[in-house]
Amino acid sequence: MVSENYNEAIELIRKSKYTIALTGAGVSVESGLPDFRSPDGIWSKYDISKYAYLANFYEDPKRIWDFVRELYSSYSDAKPNIGHISLAKMEEMGFLKCIITQNIDNLHQKAGSRCVIEFHGNITHLRCLKCGKVYKREERDPFKWEVPICDCGNPLKPDFIFFGEGIFEDVLNRSFEMAKKCEVFLIIGTSAEVQPASMLPLVAKESGARLIDINLKPSRITLDGYSDYFLRGKFTEIMSKMVKDLEGEK
Ligand SMILES: [Zn+2]
Repeated sequence: MVSENYNEAIELIRKSKYTIALTGAGVSVESGLPDFRSPDGIWSKYDISKYAYLANFYEDPKRIWDFVRELYSSYSDAKPNIGHISLAKMEEMGFLKCIITQNIDNLHQKAGSRCVIEFHGNITHLRCLKCGKVYKREERDPFKWEVPICDCGNPLKPDFIFFGEGIFEDVLNRSFEMAKKCEVFLIIGTSAEVQPASMLPLVAKESGARLIDINLKPSRITLDGYSDYFLRGKFTEIMSKMVKDLEGEK
């Protein structure tokens, strides 16, 4: 049975020596970044089959960069919300080891979180698919280069994961290691339906961790009966309350 008892969930987090969080688009909605797939999300404007696949980048890097420039513009205006800031505080207070995020928006880092694994890559770097060289965005500013080019002459790709592209091995290894080690696993602002990120809470559960789902709607993990707790509500409200309650007991 999935419990909705907030006090018990907080008690688990307080006692846990190793808590990690998996976050998704839901945590950035209150920063004004709609989920890609929501009615006002990016895929309502752009045809996903022309912009989201690795093959699209090989076909026409300029088309992809025009699209990515728009993405970057909306991201650079976005600010972390009180939920992001609360997660950073939890880390500072010793109640959270690391965040594994499916977001590429850089908002956890902007909020001050130090341990952030970017499961799907990021908007802060560019990568050459031919020689593997990685550049900071400032080094090949896409607002100055129509198509940023590597020293080797190949077009650079934004360093986030396109459909048809694998997750980086070091990212996978670190994430799954943490999932195996953790005592409490938080599922926040994600429906946990996208593979392989959705495997992480299940691996944690199998290794003995307790799962706490914090979402507006129960995630797939809760619907399938794996969560121990489901806390329903807005990310910003639940996380700021949680930090106050954790602080209160120090
Ligand atoms: Zn190169």
